[in-house]
Amino acid sequence: MSAGADPGGEAAPLVVEDAAPGVVRIALPVPGLPDGVNVHLVRGDGPTTLVDAGMPLPGALEALRAGLAAAGAALDDVQRVVLTHHHADHIGLAAAIAARTGAELVALAPVAAVLRDPGTAFGREVAWAGGHVARHGAPDEVLERTRASLPVLAALPAASAVTEIADGDVVAAGGLRLTARHRPGHSPTDTLLTDAAAGVAFVGDHLFRAAPLTPVLGSMLAPGARPARAYLDALDATLHDGVPLLLPGHGPPIADPAALVADRLGAYRRRTERALAALTDAPASTWQVGLGAWRGAPGRALALTRLAALLASLELLEDEGRAVRSGTDDAVLWARGPRADAPLGDAGA
Ligand SMILES: [Zn+2]
Repeated sequence: MSAGADPGGEAAPLVVEDAAPGVVRIALPVPGLPDGVNVHLVRGDGPTTLVDAGMPLPGALEALRAGLAAAGAALDDVQRVVLTHHHADHIGLAAAIAARTGAELVALAPVAAVLRDPGTAFGREVAWAGGHVARHGAPDEVLERTRASLPVLAALPAASAVTEIADGDVVAAGGLRLTARHRPGHSPTDTLLTDAAAGVAFVGDHLFRAAPLTPVLGSMLAPGARPARAYLDALDATLHDGVPLLLPGHGPPIADPAALVADRLGAYRRRTERALAALTDAPASTWQVGLGAWRGAPGRALALTRLAALLASLELLEDEGRAVRSGTDDAVLWARGPRADAPLGDAGA
């Protein structure tokens, strides 16, 4: 989750632990994220592989070296780095690792584009976020932290070569054969990497335990997307996969995926009900609706994430005719829809 980190918060210590046979979880410290961010080391018959590449923070590469050493490996051992999505806390060290080791970077095409030119990509993302916040009536300071992160992101080295994969492609990683599954929602590039025979899947930020809800964030990579609907469909697909062990981008392995998915669907339903309760017959901006739903303005650290979450709920309500969107493309307004009192359907989950 790139939007949830609080740069003023404390960083957790480096964690190195076995996550699955042949897989070690290295949790790199990130200020404000109690679980840090995971880099998974995968070893075995095939190429020694990292799944994800941490956040571009001072000292992060040294922390990764220390984590690899604790696992009995070295940075030079790394032959392949596979990325789960384009957020900076997951691709941050990818180009630096590739430059030092010659490791092959592997990612979906839109993630590859960000890796090749991170400055341009993140500049566009911040510009998109500015328009997004204005469109939904939020105060400009909501973007303060997003803007503050831009110089760091713009300074990321560009990757000279990236191997592009598509949904359904298979990537060898240590002793695993990982099938890429495009499951957008948290971000438009979310990629699950699944070895069904081994019963394990790397899921990035598609599902993780720490946050009460996986934030469904918008992106310039998919400006017209309705991420909440996509996310609920993606969760459904993951449930149907039936893979028993999920390795997330933040926090420890998830050994009870069905229970966690059920928990998340319930939380979405409750949040959507709160969003509905905050709507009136008078059209109001997304932010104004939020002030009712949240009972006051959220702290700046969470404002962008909360706005995205509320928008996700409102779009689900709109799909059911329980909310109605008006205003213009530059100033979106919401009010109660003709079916506002209809019972909550599955789609309201
Ligand atoms: Zn993340």
